[in-house]
Amino acid sequence: MRLILVGPPGAGKGTQAEILCARLGIPQISTGEMLRAAQAEGDLPEELARQMAEGGLLPDAMVLELIGTRLTAADCRAGFLLDGFPRTAAQATGLDDMLGKQGAALDSVIALEVPAEQLVERAVHRRTDKRTGKIYHLKSTPPPADAELEHRGDDHEDVVRQRIATYETMTAELLPFYDARGLLRRVDGVGSVEAVAERVRAALSPT
Ligand code: AMP
Repeated sequence: MRLILVGPPGAGKGTQAEILCARLGIPQISTGEMLRAAQAEGDLPEELARQMAEGGLLPDAMVLELIGTRLTAADCRAGFLLDGFPRTAAQATGLDDMLGKQGAALDSVIALEVPAEQLVERAVHRRTDKRTGKIYHLKSTPPPADAELEHRGDDHEDVVRQRIATYETMTAELLPFYDARGLLRRVDGVGSVEAVAERVRAALSPT
């Protein structure tokens, strides 16, 4: 299975990616993580590290080269799940070309859908206990009285709305591209982790 998973910030993409990869026995490939690893190793030019810190996208050619190398690794033979890539139309066509040369193709693009208002509501009530790292929701899973609570900077309403807007701009360019090829599977991301995982599974089963 060669898959792409997309979803707005806070939609539970990371959790679903983990479940899906374990079930299918495929690696989760995140360009963001690969870039952070390259930076930690001192392999990312300073100019690119600065662009990344400012939240800008790195050049398509550079990201495509990174992915091209990664997809030839032995663990990708049975497939892979891409997370955070492609982010532009040029990256999407670059990926198609790359796979085409290997006689391969994508199987599906899963788009997790959660209404913006619900993402904002989740983020503004989300708190982390600094001592244990556990995550709580002030209303639905309230923390214990002795928790040392922290509200992440990127969980503040204005930041969340900005990140959702960025995601919507990106998908407005990408999803029609995959929809036209019959690859897009829209999955309702509202509900329990198990319920959403089941919907993802159903969306990928042959009909
Ligand atoms: P992420 O963890 O996916 O949010 O990625 C962190 C940062 O890495 C992004 O804000 C970009 O600066 C860079 N990045 C990750 N993936 C890509 C991509 N596909 N194209 C361009 N830049 C990317």
